[in-house]
Amino acid sequence: MPIRPHAHTYICPQCGWSKTVAPRSDALGPGEHFSRCPACGHGSLVTRPADALASALAAGLQTLGKLWRR
Ligand SMILES: [Zn+2]
Repeated sequence: MPIRPHAHTYICPQCGWSKTVAPRSDALGPGEHFSRCPACGHGSLVTRPADALASALAAGLQTLGKLWRR
């Protein structure tokens, strides 16, 4: 049984960039995974579980994005 991944936040310890992502399945799509900071290129991002507000916001933005692209 697939486990639904929880929303989490990527944080760059170098420049302070952060992004919350809320994957909808265990197959990560574009924009849902970062191996390095898109702002400064720092290679080891910190991840932490997103708080409830940030994860609701990220899910809402993804839904809006899907509607927009249709
Ligand atoms: Zn950075």
